[in-house]
Amino acid sequence: MNFKEHCEECRAKLGRPYGMVHIWLDAYDGKKGRDKDGEYDYTGINCIKHREKRHHNVGIMECEKHFFKKYEKRLGREFAEKIIPQIVEAAELHIISDMGYIPAKEEYENPWFWRKSE
Ligand SMILES: [Zn+2]
Repeated sequence: MNFKEHCEECRAKLGRPYGMVHIWLDAYDGKKGRDKDGEYDYTGINCIKHREKRHHNVGIMECEKHFFKKYEKRLGREFAEKIIPQIVEAAELHIISDMGYIPAKEEYENPWFWRKSE
């Protein structure tokens, strides 16, 4: 699913597109660089490999933390607490649409995992 399709699905099912959630989840798509886990390279032919970064159970928790902090800072704790369940729902929907379910982070380390998702 591309960005537009993720937004449309969220709008249909949750009432809003949640574009920033999709941007955050797919932020590594086509990128190359270095982060806390070391070097990564998601350029080239295997364009779904970037999903190992955020399309899993731990990614959802990181998404929750990331957006909570962002909203708390901008609009206050009460607003952040209210919007977070919807952010999490949008993230879950995105991952289920891409992967069929919400994988555990470790599943991506298994080479067989890639066979069934390709
Ligand atoms: Zn995605």
